[in-house]
Amino acid sequence: MTQDTINEVLKFRDDRDWKQFHNPKDLAISISLEAAELLEVFQWSAEDVVCTDKIDKIREELADVVNYCILMADACGLDLDEIVREKVKLNNEKYPVEKAFGSKEKYTELKDK
Ligand SMILES: [Mg+2]
Repeated sequence: MTQDTINEVLKFRDDRDWKQFHNPKDLAISISLEAAELLEVFQWSAEDVVCTDKIDKIREELADVVNYCILMADACGLDLDEIVREKVKLNNEKYPVEKAFGSKEKYTELKDK
């Protein structure tokens, strides 16, 4: 995520004076609602692992989720690059390659290979 993209999302909000409505609770609710809209794209789909015919709607809903994540990070004073990198580092510790490679098990269930 570039700072230009983040600034564009924040400008959209600020041009409309919407920051006053963007408290962490309502932004968290909005992230969840948009994630549900993303999930809705696959509802009743017989081919729910394929996205080729749904890509336009996926793009739209995924962008909604990310936009709200940007707004949430801003409301909480968090740096998205920093928190995502920290989480990847933690996930690397939870899911070491030598145990997790090719496995879909939760980290608590991973075994030595
Ligand atoms: Mg949406």
